[in-house]
Amino acid sequence: MKRPPIIAIVGHVDHGKTTLLDYIRKTNIASGEAGGITQATHAYAVTYNGNTLTFIDTPGHEAFGAMRERGARVADIAILVVASTDGVEEQTKEAIRVLAETNTPYVVALTKTDMNVPLEKVKAELMQAGVLLEGYGGDVSFAGVSCKTGDGVTDLLDLLILTADVLDLEYDELSAPEGYCIESTKDSKRGVVAYVVVLEGVLRIGTEIVIGSVVARIKALEDSSGARITECPAGLPCAIIGFKDMPPVGTGFRTLMKGEKVAAPERSIPVPTRRSSSKEKGIVINVIVKAAAQGPLEALVAAVRAIAVPEGCTLRIASSGIGDITDGDVQWFVASDTKQGIVVGFDVASTKQADHLAKVNRIEVVTSAIIYDLTDAVAHCIVRATGGAILGDLEVLALFGNKGPKGHVVGGAVVAGEIQNGAKVYITREGVEVGTGVIANLQTGKKEVGRVLEGNECGLLVESEIDIRVGDHIVIK
Ligand code: GDP
Repeated sequence: MKRPPIIAIVGHVDHGKTTLLDYIRKTNIASGEAGGITQATHAYAVTYNGNTLTFIDTPGHEAFGAMRERGARVADIAILVVASTDGVEEQTKEAIRVLAETNTPYVVALTKTDMNVPLEKVKAELMQAGVLLEGYGGDVSFAGVSCKTGDGVTDLLDLLILTADVLDLEYDELSAPEGYCIESTKDSKRGVVAYVVVLEGVLRIGTEIVIGSVVARIKALEDSSGARITECPAGLPCAIIGFKDMPPVGTGFRTLMKGEKVAAPERSIPVPTRRSSSKEKGIVINVIVKAAAQGPLEALVAAVRAIAVPEGCTLRIASSGIGDITDGDVQWFVASDTKQGIVVGFDVASTKQADHLAKVNRIEVVTSAIIYDLTDAVAHCIVRATGGAILGDLEVLALFGNKGPKGHVVGGAVVAGEIQNGAKVYITREGVEVGTGVIANLQTGKKEVGRVLEGNECGLLVESEIDIRVGDHIVIK
């Protein structure tokens, strides 16, 4: 039987992946097909001109590299999104590499055509990056689209349908169901939910499946609009309810054979420890990370691990888990008799009990839906904990002109310690060190000064190879 293609949208952050998918989903709803706008499965089945297409929603944020890669690996087809206004960027190249490595057929969407930037520049950059477009000596199809006005979106959908036809994607109704887990979450109503795409056979209620080493008898299934269904054939996404333990994401699933036993999964319960390992030196800052689902949790852990720490200081992820911040998480700090650290929650809440316990014990708890708020909070926690280890931290608020031969003139606010004229600095972006430099000139009120203290704003000339951006931190250690 013919099955719908599974399509991933890849490309650089801010190039229009989310807006494009939103537009496609709206078209679907506008065309009268069933389906709400609730984000139910992290993948959406969309019907266009009698064809069903399944789109995997892969977050575009750079911190979600692993998730994006997963999306591309399970997809039959990818859309490489490149903004005509920005051209080929870092993650565009990374996406091209993953697509080549995984041999994934793809079409290119040149977005933001409503900005009226001629497409020739972006096409030339794509050629340079090894993407040979149709009509330019290659066979990669492309469409110019505006995700805002919808211009060209149906051309793009036509290209996807053509590509799928060539691939001749089929499934066998009688085969044991198989598929891929893109996300797993836990909520109070449904318990553990695994979001999957089915790649073979038909998934039905009552089937026993295994993802990694986690087993479930399927209690309920939901389609991409959140409606209850009794079966889900290959090519479509669904949410599976019936797991006790959290299944691993980025892993295939299969049905359990009769009488088959699967080794019990390891439970990751945070164990309070008083001792730090011998590798950990000096000041140890403990971080407990929580997120709503496995993918974002991995992203947050990776972002926290990438935070620059000064000499003599170790950043340690004491535990990580899915769900709201509970008093149990805060209790870890109380039990381990350390206050050096922070509990961060990505797109989760913190319970009243947790807040209370944190307040009483003066333990910092920060929640946000923006990953960089959390890495910033951890970075500030490091500054506080290390005291003198970081002498000064300035947040860049403005850039004055472009980077010149002598460096970059920037304006900023000293958010910790002090900034000194002539000092060697470390430039960090979103908590990650991106380069070094030297403060060649420091001014307040148009006068050159030797140092500027916390709470004040200043202008400075930074000699550095790095293109400094607004939001970067200039740190003296
Ligand atoms: P993503 O990070 O790749 O998912 O990018 P988004 O979809 O979040 O888009 C980034 C920004 O570009 C948003 O402000 C969008 O409104 C805007 N945007 C996306 N596509 C278009 C487009 O075709 N035209 C215009 N003018 N803006 C767009």
